[in-house]
Order: sequence, then structure tokens, then C-alpha cells
Amino acid sequence: MAKKSILITGGAGFIGSHLAERLIQSGEKVIVVDNLVTGNIENIRPLLNHPNFTFLEHNVSEHIEIEDELDWVMHFASPASPIDFKKLAIPILKVGSLGTHNALGLAKEKKAKFFLASTSEVYGDPLIHPQPESYWGNVNPIGPRGVYDESKRFAEAITMAYHREHAIDVRIIRIFNTYGPRMRADDGRVVCNFINQALENKDITIYGDGMQSRSFQYVDDLVKGIIKLMSVTHNEPVNLGNPYEFTMLELAEKVIALTKSKSKIIFLELPEDDPKRRKPDISKAQALLGWEPIVQLEEGLVRTIEFFSHEAARPALKEVTL
Ligand code: UDP
Repeated sequence: MAKKSILITGGAGFIGSHLAERLIQSGEKVIVVDNLVTGNIENIRPLLNHPNFTFLEHNVSEHIEIEDELDWVMHFASPASPIDFKKLAIPILKVGSLGTHNALGLAKEKKAKFFLASTSEVYGDPLIHPQPESYWGNVNPIGPRGVYDESKRFAEAITMAYHREHAIDVRIIRIFNTYGPRMRADDGRVVCNFINQALENKDITIYGDGMQSRSFQYVDDLVKGIIKLMSVTHNEPVNLGNPYEFTMLELAEKVIALTKSKSKIIFLELPEDDPKRRKPDISKAQALLGWEPIVQLEEGLVRTIEFFSHEAARPALKEVTL
């Protein structure tokens, strides 16, 4: 089969780099566009010399110029950690709005299909549990998370507008909490915080009473879902996540046990607008794609702990401030 030519914005980031690697392994041509604001060249270093791989350092919130023909534009660029919501509020709003507009314009120009990485954050602090795609969400537009939530909601809106106006064949996924190797040690999200704190025998910082829940999918499961969705035609949002739900206290205890850490658990203030519960309803993905996550939390944590146990993966763990 002829190779497809696939451009991934944010392809040097955590999820984008796993996707790029997987597509290269399947024989596709991949162009990664990333300004490395939260992405890391180390994530794609093994791909840099591959004949089917090209890296362009560029901010996709600015016009994107590509000479090659493209079959897919996959828009994965965005800072995505709650710590970034404060530090990179405006770049987040720009990449969700201007960046999505540019990526859609590129897809239109190249007559390519378009794939948007959206988020469970479009559901905000949900009033319906678990969250099906039909739920419109409960988002505070002016709160600290609003910059990310609203930029992704806008990204979905403009994606559907390009689909309706310009007949672009689009896919939209709503990614629920995802973890695995290549997360940034200092990105502030709970799995990397707990693992890195445990590995250094530092206090494990639970925000609030630790009874808030999340459900985490291992990155390989997500990438499989993405690849499956590329091969069916479905233009409306699809949740991709792992419905196995647990509290942050349970997660802390599991990480301490798996790392055999001497860390103690401490309780800090809960950040503003922190969702109390989150769990995907994945019935659509199951029916449409025959997909469901298979990596159990414990197995995924072991692989992630192994990644972070190499000193180079966790340069000087900084104090976490939200
Ligand atoms: N959290 C925590 N301690 C940390 C980091 C996060 O207790 O050191 C909590 C956070 O308040 C939230 C949950 O873990 O309730 C998941 O946070 P994360 O930042 O990973 O992602 P979110 O789902 O909030 O976007």
C-alpha cells in the first residue's frame, strides 16, 4: 500500500511522539511540527534520522507552510497540564484557536483529512457521570482551567464548521487522562508528580482530601484508538479513555507500594475548579472501533516508573506550584 503522508502538530510532545513513532513503524511518512514549548526533542530523537521522518520547529499558531502533499493533518499541539494553564494561558488559547484554524487551513489546502486531539476537559466539572459524547459539559469559562477548556471547545467548533462548510473529512477525539513514558517530570500532573516524589522519597502531594476520582489510560491504548479511528469515517467526537476509576488517595498508595518508597502522603489545598470526578463513557468507541483499553493501571504504572527511574528523565524535580 502507498505510504500516507501525515503531519502531526505537537508531535514532539508526550502523546504526539508516541503517535509519530507508531505511524513510522507502520511505514507512513510523518512530518512533525512543534515549537518545543512543552514538547521535547528527546521524545523524537530516535526518529530524526529515519528517511520517512521530518521535523520542523515551528509554532503552529503562526501560518504553516508545507510543500509536500498531505493525506492527514493531525492537530495535537497544546500545552495540556494544569501547571501550563497558568504559565502558558495565552499560548494555550492561541494554539487551540489560531493553531487549529491554521491546521484546518492546511488540511483544506492539501485536501487532507483532519484529526483533532480534543479533551475530556470540554466536559469541565461534569454534572453527568460517566461522560458520554452527547454531554455538553459544565465549564467555567473565566476560571483558571477555562483557557484550556474553552480553547478546545472552540477547536471542536471550528473543526465542525470546516467539516460543514468545506466538506473536510474530520475526526475529533476527546482524550481522557493519559499517562506513560515521556511525560515531563515537572509537568505537574498527578501520575508524574506522585511517581517522581515517590522515587525521591519526597512527600506525596495530594490536593484536597484525595477523594476526587480520575480514570487513567495508558498511552499505548490511546494510540491504538487513534489509529483505529483513522480507518473509519465518523466526523463527530469520540471519547478515548479508560473507564477504570479510582481516587487520588488510592493512586498515591499504589505508587508508594510499587516504588517501595518511604514517602509520606501530605494533603494540600485543592486547586480552583478541580473536577471532582471524571470517567469516560466509551460505548461509542467500543461499538465504532471495537476498541477498549487493555493496559491495567498497575502494569502501566510499572512501565512509567521504569521510565522515570532513569535519572535523565527527571531533571531536578521542581517544587510544584499551582
Ligand atoms: N493532584 C494531586 N496531587 C498532585 C497533582 C494532582 O492530588 O501532585 C490531583 C489534582 O488536584 C486532580 C487529579 O490529581 O484532582 C488529577 O490531576 P491532573 O493534574 O493529573 O489532571 P486533571 O485531571 O486535573 O486535568
